[in-house]
Amino acid sequence: MEIDHGWLDAAEPQPSPNCDTRPSAEISLIVVHGISLPAGHFGSAYVPDLFLNRLDVCAHPDFADLVGVCVSSHLLIRRDGQLIQFVPFHERAWHAGESSFRGRPGCNDFSVGIELEGTDHSGYDLKQYQQLAAVCRLLLATWQIPADHIVGHSDIAPGRKTDPGPQFDWAEFRTMLAADPSAFDSVR
Ligand SMILES: [Zn+2]
Repeated sequence: MEIDHGWLDAAEPQPSPNCDTRPSAEISLIVVHGISLPAGHFGSAYVPDLFLNRLDVCAHPDFADLVGVCVSSHLLIRRDGQLIQFVPFHERAWHAGESSFRGRPGCNDFSVGIELEGTDHSGYDLKQYQQLAAVCRLLLATWQIPADHIVGHSDIAPGRKTDPGPQFDWAEFRTMLAADPSAFDSVR
């Protein structure tokens, strides 16, 4: 897996208009999210459609809240581990909203946002943990990001956001992050 001009070669590119220029070149935080549309339904085009401003908000009653919402993430990791990239890493994606990391506001400015297809309570697939660990390992090495600068959306927007949720196993993820990639299959 490599990064070429901000794009991950292992990801399917679906460029989103919901991005702009970072205020500086700094990338020092990774924010893990969980998302599904409608909640608990996986595998459809609705999440990519949301990030591409082409979601049919009439397709489901839950989508009414999403009228006019302009959001994105850098990456989406599907349940089967498939990677889709919407924004190149050097650009600012719009995933964190009002947020702060250790007292510093505006996390979109200096973070990479990674969405896992899921819900707060349904758990995540092993393939998603594997992909997330592989991607994070590459991002940490590329931008010299400390490993403890990987957080959940709920950590930087407490009281407002709950994703990736209590079912996301941080201990398991951090074990996989530290492990040799060839050892992934024996982690569980
Ligand atoms: Zn989120």
